[in-house]
Amino acid sequence: MDCIFCKIIEGTIPSYKVYEDDQVYAFLDISQGTKGHTLVVPKNHSASVFDLPEEDAKAIFRVVPKLSNTLKKAFNPIGLNIVSNNEKPYQTVDHFHIHLLPRYEDDELVLSMINRMNDLEQKDYVEVLDAIKVAMKA
Ligand code: AMP
Ligand code: ZN
Repeated sequence: MDCIFCKIIEGTIPSYKVYEDDQVYAFLDISQGTKGHTLVVPKNHSASVFDLPEEDAKAIFRVVPKLSNTLKKAFNPIGLNIVSNNEKPYQTVDHFHIHLLPRYEDDELVLSMINRMNDLEQKDYVEVLDAIKVAMKA
């Protein structure tokens, strides 16, 4: 499989390993968007969250609090963002992963949310909810 993260897990491409167990591998993101920026990946290859088996999801999220607390202890950040990009153009490596990004004063990382609540009425929320409910049943 021509997947850079599979090669990192196999050890054929080097990485700065932070943590490993039977199902999970965590390593420093080469970009270090902030100090301590870590990627957590399932050892089994899944391209994105859309085909991630529940067992692998469980395994990854089970270690997230421990790794987050470790990063907190190591670097004393003011907060930490957990990010997962799925599918292009957001995702650049097609092996599911989550980013742990410790945050610091003036770290210049930009992750912005938009609040549209002032443009929305109750019926708009109901419409969205109905679409989700239909999809949930399908
Ligand atoms: P995304 O854009 O969410 O798919 O994130 C992919 C991440 O993988 C980026 O933040 C890259 O910096 C990181 N990355 C790519 N190649 C490597 C590598 N060889 N070692 C560590 N991190 C990598
Ligand atoms: Zn892979």
